[in-house]
This record gives sequence, C-alpha cells and structure tokens, in this order.
Amino acid sequence: MASEAAVKLPIYMDNHATTRVDPRVLEAMLPYFSEIYGNAASRNHEFGWVAEQAVDKAREQVAKLIGATAKEIVLTSGATESNNLAIKGVAEMYREKGNHIITEVTEHKCVLDTCKRLEKHGYRITYLPVRTDGLIDLDQLKDAMTDETILVSIMAANNEIGILQPIREIGKLCHEKGVLFHTDAVQAAGKVPFNVIEDNVDLASVSAHKIYGPKGVGALYVRRRNPRVQLVAQMDGGGHERGMRSGTLNVPGIVGLGAACEVAQLDMGEESKRLFALRESLREQITSQLDEVYINGSMEHRLPGSINISFAYVEGESLLMGINDIAVSSGSACTSATLEPSYVLKALGAGDELAHSSIRFGLGRFNTQAEVDYVATKIVEVVRRLRELSPLYEMHKEGIDLSKVKWAAEPVNH
Ligand SMILES: *Cc1c(COP(=O)(O)O)cnc(C)c1O
Repeated sequence: MASEAAVKLPIYMDNHATTRVDPRVLEAMLPYFSEIYGNAASRNHEFGWVAEQAVDKAREQVAKLIGATAKEIVLTSGATESNNLAIKGVAEMYREKGNHIITEVTEHKCVLDTCKRLEKHGYRITYLPVRTDGLIDLDQLKDAMTDETILVSIMAANNEIGILQPIREIGKLCHEKGVLFHTDAVQAAGKVPFNVIEDNVDLASVSAHKIYGPKGVGALYVRRRNPRVQLVAQMDGGGHERGMRSGTLNVPGIVGLGAACEVAQLDMGEESKRLFALRESLREQITSQLDEVYINGSMEHRLPGSINISFAYVEGESLLMGINDIAVSSGSACTSATLEPSYVLKALGAGDELAHSSIRFGLGRFNTQAEVDYVATKIVEVVRRLRELSPLYEMHKEGIDLSKVKWAAEPVNH
C-alpha cells in the first residue's frame, strides 16, 4: 500500500485545469471586495480614481510579465473571451484584406469552436496537423499561407500534453509574410519565458486562474506598434478598454490577475526548476517500474510541470477509479453522455484505447515531493493490479503480437 502518512488526501495534480489562488494574490484582492469598491470608470470621485489606480497597476503587472506595455493590455473575463476577441476581432477588422485563418488541430476548444463559427460566416480555416511529438511542422505552416491569410493562431503551450510550440519561429514567419500572429499563452505565460517582442507575437491570451489567480478574469495583449493591430469589439457598450471590450471592470479580479502575474514573474526561475524536478521524479518512478507506458508528446519541448502518460493494457475508467484520491485528468473527454477519446491525443496518433487510458499530471506551485511519491506508488500499484486481470496483457507478456490476432466473433446469447 502507498504510504498515506506524509500527505493530505485527496491530492490535487490537475493544475492545467485550474490552480489554487496563491495567498499573496488573495491578500492583494481582499480590500477590493469591501473598502475599495468604486467603479474604475467613475471619473468624478475618489472611489472611482482609487479603483482605476488599482486597475492601472494590475495592467502594468500583466504587461511586465509578457514584455508588453500597459496600453496594450485589454482586460477580459478570461482566456475564452480573449481568444474569441482576438480571432473574431481580427477576422472582422481585416475582412477586406482576406478571409483565411490558420490554426492547428490541438488548440483549446475555445479557439477551434471560434474558428468553426467563422467558417459559417464565409471564412476559410486551415487546421494544421501535428507530428507525433505534438509540434506543428513549420514548412506546412509556410505552405498554408496565402495572400488571403490574415491571421495565424497557434498556442504557446498545450493544456493537455504540455508541449511548447516554436512560437518565436512561427511569429517570425508570420511577420515576414505580413500576417498577424495570435497565441493562446494561457499555459505558458508565467511558467516559461514568454515575451511578445522577442517571440514576435501580435496578440496573446492569458488567464488568471491558470497562474494561481482568481477564475473569471484574463487579458488579451494587442500590439500597438510594428504593426498596430486593430480589432472589432465583440462586446458593445460603454466603450471600456479603449472600445475593445465594454463592461464594468472586475476590479478585485483584475487586482488578482496583476498580483498573480507579479508573483509568477518573481518565482518563475526557481519554480520551474522545482516543478521540473518533481515531474522528472514522477516520470522516473513510473517508467522504471512499469512497462508499456507511453509519454505523449515531445520530452524536450515541454512545460516543466507537465506530463501526459498512456498506460497500455489497462482500462481508462478502472484506472481513474483506482486512483480516486488523486485529482488528475484522463484522456477521455466527457462530451454530453459519451466518453470520447481526447482529440489532442488522437491528433498525435494515439489509438482510442491508448487515449482513454492516458493520464495528464499537472504539477503546480503547491505540490510536494511526498505527493509525487504517493502518486507514483499508487499509479504503479493500480496499473499492476489491473494488468493482472487483463488477458491482453498476459498475451502480450507471452509474446503474442496482438495486432495479428484474429478475434473470433462470438455470438452474444444473453
Ligand atoms: C484554461 C484554458 C483556456 C480557457 O481559459 P479560461 O480563462 O478558463 O476561459 C484557454 N486556453 C488554454 C490553453 C487553457 O488552458
């Protein structure tokens, strides 16, 4: 049995889905729920000015993390909105120039579904495939660009497999061709070096709750020089955020986003080293004790705290049930009532079975070595137990090539 002495259960290891608010962030936010409650758009009294100052400070903190200026930061309700605003906003603004957008098949749903909606409105979308390591092929990107291409949207870091795309090279290609480059930087900003100037990025989406800030607040970076990017607002109203996003600002949330960015910037160096060591320990413990496990995506181009592993010869649901004191995500997406294999893992070439028996481990700021040890021990224990019950694993051990076995169709009489 795995030792439970040192750790508190359940263990949270799903930091790609969301993160716990850092105490430093919470502390910064608290006054803005009570004493300092003004509307940042109120121009003629102290309450409004103080709120506006807090928002300005947060805007600076966000800008500083990504190498932008405060005026280039549009505050939003999160990265889903930022991605919608970036892609639809550019599509509408540059419609005269062209109707073609390039993205990739492993993007977050909010990018893919935004693109699908644009297809209904006459835009042409290219969904680039990825290689088995999860990266796009730059030559394919180059070939896909035409005179009609107005935008390329490729994420910096993937939320399911943690792989990092070569955004600097992508941005360079885009700029050579005069095409705007948007990146969903939710999983990258604050975790690995990300700089909109050095990385040749024109638009970038970030979200507070993926970097130990509150849920429901995010930002879109919109470049103002070389080139100056223009957007058609997708939310009409009072003209907040220089007309790009109307709506009363969520002051406590924005203060939290700013604080989260500042803490991330301060801690990134040490934190990424610590998370890398934890992740390597997890990988080492699992892969040294189990055979037939596969790591999804490049090991080289990867977020430090991220790993996604497929366990062959175990059934995904049984595996998850066996580790129900550990919060992780599986390679199955609950779409309505059915379990669909992850489209990201399938894009890397994983079969349905292997995709279903995959687990995403997302290590974060509050995970410890003791938790990693517990999780590794438990995973090994459960996978071994399930495989003992698996006739397929038995056959594999006996050296039977399962791909060559012809299964007899058995009549079902019950
Ligand atoms: C979480 C996430 C989003 C959505 O962000 P929200 O702020 O929750 O809307 C978009 N892209 C990626 C890569 C994410 O991980």
